[in-house]
Amino acid sequence: PIINKEYPAMRASQYLLATVKETPSDAETASHQLMIRAGLIRKLATGLYTWLPLGLRVLRKVTEVVREEMDKAGAMEVSMPVVQPAELWLETGRWQTMGPELLRFKDRHERDFCLGPTHEEVITDLVRNEINSYRQLPANLYQIQTKFRDERRPRFGVMRAREFTMKDAYSFHMNQESLDQTYQVMHATYSAIFSRLGLDFRPVAADSGNIGGNTSHEFHVLAYSGEDEIVFSSDGNYAANMEMATGTLPPLPQEASRRAKHEVATGDAHSIEDLCTHLSINATACVKTLVVQGCDAEGEKSGELIALYLRGDQTLNETKTAKLARVLSPLEFADDEVIEGTLGCKPGAIGPNSKCAFSYADPSVLGLVNFVCGANKEDTHFIDANWDDETRYDEVADIRCVQEGDISPDGKGTLAVKRGIEVGHIFQLGDKYSAALKATALDENGKSVVMSMGCYGIGVTRVVAACIEQNHDEHGIIWPENIAPYSLVIVQVDAHKSELVRTVSEDIYQLAQGLDIEVLLDDRDKKTSPGVKFADSELIGIPHRLVISPRSLADGVVEYKRRGEADKQLLASETVAGFVSNLAAGENS
Ligand code: ATP
Ligand code: MG
Repeated sequence: PIINKEYPAMRASQYLLATVKETPSDAETASHQLMIRAGLIRKLATGLYTWLPLGLRVLRKVTEVVREEMDKAGAMEVSMPVVQPAELWLETGRWQTMGPELLRFKDRHERDFCLGPTHEEVITDLVRNEINSYRQLPANLYQIQTKFRDERRPRFGVMRAREFTMKDAYSFHMNQESLDQTYQVMHATYSAIFSRLGLDFRPVAADSGNIGGNTSHEFHVLAYSGEDEIVFSSDGNYAANMEMATGTLPPLPQEASRRAKHEVATGDAHSIEDLCTHLSINATACVKTLVVQGCDAEGEKSGELIALYLRGDQTLNETKTAKLARVLSPLEFADDEVIEGTLGCKPGAIGPNSKCAFSYADPSVLGLVNFVCGANKEDTHFIDANWDDETRYDEVADIRCVQEGDISPDGKGTLAVKRGIEVGHIFQLGDKYSAALKATALDENGKSVVMSMGCYGIGVTRVVAACIEQNHDEHGIIWPENIAPYSLVIVQVDAHKSELVRTVSEDIYQLAQGLDIEVLLDDRDKKTSPGVKFADSELIGIPHRLVISPRSLADGVVEYKRRGEADKQLLASETVAGFVSNLAAGENS
């Protein structure tokens, strides 16, 4: 349980309760607006935020939950520097491969440093020095600490900031089996953490980048404002992020007999949309051709162009496409001049059998009969084209974004697509960093083995924003009980006019403290109207509210309201103490 000494009771008159009435103009999402308005955070500069007293209480509680569950899972807490020497990043090659997200600088001796966006290099350096035997493994080390990423588009407040708090853990193993075990433990630990935080979340399979294998999961909080799309099967357990998800497009009925293809002039109808209007057809009857840059066997840009065929109504999945052997990664679309110069025709009329060096066809085009496609000739398309000796592709590859209603890859029902906020990410790294940094340990036979690694991140500051996205209404935040900054707010009304209001609210304030209830007494003077106090209590989202006013006391009652519920309750004055004791015991919630 969270101990009250760390979260003292407070009088609003002496507290930095920095609530704001107006919605800040640069805040697009509910959580960003509410975090500013409720006085949880303040912006210092783009992507940099100060946590105010009220916000910090929430952040610390989230941190405590994360720490407790990590400790329970046997992980060991450490604290590594934010500033990291370039040498380690040169050893793994990331000094060169990381883009401008890595903030680099020099110290007074002209030595290169960076601000840590993540800590694989530093932790692996520590472990290669400190651990050298199988007896010390497996080991799981974590920290809860500041990260800096010079994000291209910092936005949504602390949701995508430049400086943020991450819990990052790194595990080290003698073999894959041991890594698998810890990975499962971390998966379960993350589920426990996000459940305790009261979040509606889903773990989904994620793209594991260039390391391969199905060894990465993201934890997403479901929210309409989420930046990511996540995919689930309706009846089975299949869940993946959009980058990675596969599914089968339900086939559409096709004509029984194939006709012979012929050219039509399509003028300036270059987009699929214009083409469909021009020919009065459906996008589902078209093959859309996209042209990207190819790569050689080493993965370097080859200058060759690669054609991609998709059904006209479908969208390209850039992550899946960039993984194809002949396609340059990161994906690079060929620009119009290159296409015209190399293929002899503007992009709008490119189709199968162009001068592209290679072509991939998505399964969505395979069953099409009598389709429309570019004729590789200015302002011209084919009608009634069919896959045959004349109209060809080189290889079939899944390059499509799945869509709602696709058949699930586990065969269990159909796919649904929802929006999510990535709050956690777990990953099997294998020997990517341990090999580069030569982190080895001796096995039972005295043989040196490169350790296997896992890494596990939680965006602790992002969790606070994600929680607000899921828990708010038009009046403000509705905190889940266990991370609310205060559990009870006592609102004094007209205390300057009533001695009784002062003594009754003071008594309850003392009683609540004695019961270890985190309590805020809104004792601001008459310059703060009762209306403002009520609005503020809703805005900052305290779960329980008692209102002490001269009028209700005269009637022998105290008003109680649970945040998020519409109805108020009138408590007979003599029952209030008992009610507060029940609050402490968690019986009124
Ligand atoms: P994203 O895809 O959102 O950019 P990422 O994949 O780069 O995140 P990881 O490297 O997996 O992030 O970092 C672990 C966790 O840190 C993420 O799951 C996320 O919750 C959090 N995080 C990452 N970048 C930011 C940021 N700019 N601001 C706040 N939290 C972040
Ligand atoms: Mg991630």
